[in-house]
Amino acid sequence: MDAQQFQLHIAFFPYMAQGHLIPTMDMARLFVRHGVKATIITTPSNAPLFSKTIERDRQLGFEIFIQLMDFPSAEVGLPEGCENASSINTPEMISKFYRAISLLENPLENVLQDCQPNCLVADMMFPWATEIANKFGIPRLVFHGVSTFSLCVFDSLRRYDIYKSLASDFDPFTVLGLPNQIKLTRLQLPNYIREENELTEALDQIIQSVLKSYGVLINSFYELEPKYLEHYRNVMGRKAWLIGPLSLCNKETEDKVQRGDTTSIDEHECLKWLALKKPNSVLYICFGSMFKFPRPQLLELARALEASGQNFIWVLKNEGKEEDHQWLPEGFEMRMKGKGLIIRGWAPQLLILDHEATGGFMTHCGWNSTLEAVAAGVPMVTWPLYAEQFFNEKLVTEVLKVGTNVGSQEWSTYEKKIIIKMEDIRKAVTMVMAGEEGEVMRNRAKELKEMARQAIEAGGSSFSYLNAFLEELKAINV
Ligand code: UDP
Repeated sequence: MDAQQFQLHIAFFPYMAQGHLIPTMDMARLFVRHGVKATIITTPSNAPLFSKTIERDRQLGFEIFIQLMDFPSAEVGLPEGCENASSINTPEMISKFYRAISLLENPLENVLQDCQPNCLVADMMFPWATEIANKFGIPRLVFHGVSTFSLCVFDSLRRYDIYKSLASDFDPFTVLGLPNQIKLTRLQLPNYIREENELTEALDQIIQSVLKSYGVLINSFYELEPKYLEHYRNVMGRKAWLIGPLSLCNKETEDKVQRGDTTSIDEHECLKWLALKKPNSVLYICFGSMFKFPRPQLLELARALEASGQNFIWVLKNEGKEEDHQWLPEGFEMRMKGKGLIIRGWAPQLLILDHEATGGFMTHCGWNSTLEAVAAGVPMVTWPLYAEQFFNEKLVTEVLKVGTNVGSQEWSTYEKKIIIKMEDIRKAVTMVMAGEEGEVMRNRAKELKEMARQAIEAGGSSFSYLNAFLEELKAINV
């Protein structure tokens, strides 16, 4: 059989968190449209998050197969059904969750035995997946779900650990060896880099598995971070294909609404609200799929929004309407009627970002959210919290110059000791939504939006990388 006729079968094994499941699902949809047979390997509680999308695609003639494996919640002492990182709410649960993840090695082997793919695209969180793929004689690709820029920063921090000798956690230091001068403080670094903990070893294993893997698929596009792709290839010596923005495969309203979870607002209501607003006049505020702010911080944010006088859509992941009344400024929701829309739970993020009324995005700089803002041409108010979000903030504010920061200083997954003050938040919001600098950022963001859209069209950089990648895989198999 020649390579043209050969149908590749790729199995995708995403980490069980929305920030990883969502782009993997997008990736599978994209691959299927390039003639690949795609199977997603996941657990019973995570599969329903995508059933509507899968059903819609099936009706369009694009079938994505699901292979289920049990998640060992009971074995590690997690409540039944706790199979997604968004259900974790204490540090003890994190350890148990990681333990459960480490027990998925045999189940993965069994599933691969069953479905016999030609290639495994497994999340970085499963370092042992490279060995398993080797057993089956198939290439293992790594999906990190982060930017090329962040991969380069991680690498530089390992090569040049000058941050270890700083007098204070607040002293800025330059991340050496990168194409741009990037400054961070030790307090902004992930805790597993700052000090040795159980994740430090895990990070080593991840790096080793990447080095032994076939290469890396990155949700980004060449024009966004060309110097960093060159750095990744030439300085770090790794193989990567930039095939995004993956979110752009969601073209129809239904695609954008049914993405990742069931939305807590009716999309018609949301669109009706946005339709009443002038172009670029609404600030969208969302801190990803997981983070819950302490109440004093939420109060500062609410005050800042009111003081800024801007329209806003605010996604709250905290408790519920009743509890919110205990910390929101008195009468806030009444005063904000028509000006502010609060969504408690899951928001149709892509639908909101793509609406012409949306003029700014206050984001925690999770890579999916950041890239979705870029693809929508929306400037950002950056408020990183944990993971590699402080690195993404630098990319947004200092390299791409499409955002300004609120002054977040402290990397932490749970307790934040430093509260960002209302005045700092208000200033950043006003700059992006109403200032001249914001207008310049918006124009730059619109240019990036165009580049992003061209990248995925036939002949564009991501389209071409994807084709080249698939041709290479086919050649190995044929
Ligand atoms: N998201 C969404 N609605 C929400 C919250 C998040 O659709 O209410 C989506 C968002 O569009 C993005 C993903 O969830 O695709 C979050 O990923 P990101 O990397 O930004 O942050 P994480 O949740 O991993 O911290």
